[in-house]
Amino acid sequence: MTLLSAVLFALLLPFIAMAGEKETEAYFNEIRHDPPLLRHFLYSFPKGGDLHNHLDGAIYAENFIAWAAEDGKCIDLETYRIAPPPCNAEADKPALRDIQYNSAIVNPIIDALSVRNYAQRSVSGHDQFFSTFRRFFEASLGHEGQMLAEVSTRAARQNIVYLELMQSYGMAKARRLAAGNKDFALTVPLSVVAKNPDIEQLVDGTMARLDRIEQQWREQLACDSPQADSGCDVPVRYLAQVIRVFPREQVLAQTLLAFRLIEKDPRYVGLNFVAPEDHPVSLRDYHWQMKMIGGLAEFFPSAKRGITLHAGEIVMGLVPPEDLGWHIRAAIEVAGARRIGHGIDIFYDKNARTLM
Ligand SMILES: [Zn+2]
Repeated sequence: MTLLSAVLFALLLPFIAMAGEKETEAYFNEIRHDPPLLRHFLYSFPKGGDLHNHLDGAIYAENFIAWAAEDGKCIDLETYRIAPPPCNAEADKPALRDIQYNSAIVNPIIDALSVRNYAQRSVSGHDQFFSTFRRFFEASLGHEGQMLAEVSTRAARQNIVYLELMQSYGMAKARRLAAGNKDFALTVPLSVVAKNPDIEQLVDGTMARLDRIEQQWREQLACDSPQADSGCDVPVRYLAQVIRVFPREQVLAQTLLAFRLIEKDPRYVGLNFVAPEDHPVSLRDYHWQMKMIGGLAEFFPSAKRGITLHAGEIVMGLVPPEDLGWHIRAAIEVAGARRIGHGIDIFYDKNARTLM
C-alpha cells in the first residue's frame, strides 16, 4: 500500500465501518423473526466479556456424571447426590459407571443435577437451582482444569473475549481454620485479624493449587501445541467466592483469604459473596457482613476495587418486606461494592434511581 492509498484508506475507514453496520442492521431486520437464523447470527456476534459466571454452575450435568463415572463414584438415587465410593447398588447407591448409559436411570439424574425440565417439577426454580450444587460438588473434585477447559472453549465458540469466573478454591480450608479458633473471634480487632499468619499459608497453597488447575486446563486444550483449542486464547481471571451462610468467624476468614488473594495474585481480580441471600443466616448477618467487608477492606487498599457482591437477589414472598429495599444500598455504601450481581429488588429502595 502506498502512503497515499494508506491515507485514503484511513480516511475512508469510518464510512466502510458504517456501511458494514448498515448491512448488518438490514440483515438483522430480515432474519429477526426467523429463530434458527437469528440464533446463528447472535451466536457469532461479538459478546465482550462475561463478568458474572459461577464456574460450578456453568458445567453441564452430563460432564459431572462422566467424570464421576470415570472416578468410580456413586449416585444416591434417593437424594441424587454424587458420593465417593464404596457404592452399593442394592441400597440404591449404584456406581455411576454401571448406569451411565442407561437412559431411564441417567435422564432423571441429569434433571436433578441441573435446571433441565424444571418447569415440570413441583419444586421452585430457586430451590432446584440451589439444590444442584451439593448434588454435583463431589464430581468436580480433581476436574477443575477440565471445568476451565469446558467454559473457555464454549466462550471462544460464542465470541466471548474475556471470562471472570467465580470459584471457592481454599474457602473450605479457611472455614476449618477459623472454626473454634480464638484468633478469629469477633472480639479481635480487624486490624489484628488482617495480619493473621495462618491465612498467609492458605494464600500460598491456594495460588499453587490454581497453578496446577491452570496447567491441567492448558494440557486438556493442548494449548502448547499447533492443535491448540481456541479456548486457550480466552483470558480468564477469578473472583474469590465467600460462602455467606456459615458462622461469622468463618465468613470473616474466607473474606480475609479473598482480599489477600486479590492483593497477591494478579489472576484474582475480585471477590463475591454467594449462597442464597434469603437463607436465614444470610438475612440475619447481612448488615454485619457488609460492615465486616467494608472494615476489612481498609487494610487492603489495592484489593478494594475488586468488591463485587450479590445483593438484592430477593423478591416479595421469598423474604419478609423488611428485608427488601436496603441490601443493594448497604452493599455499595457500607461494603464498598463496585459491582452488584442480580439486584432485582432495586425498586424497593426509596431512591432507586439515584442509587442506580
Ligand atoms: Zn450470581
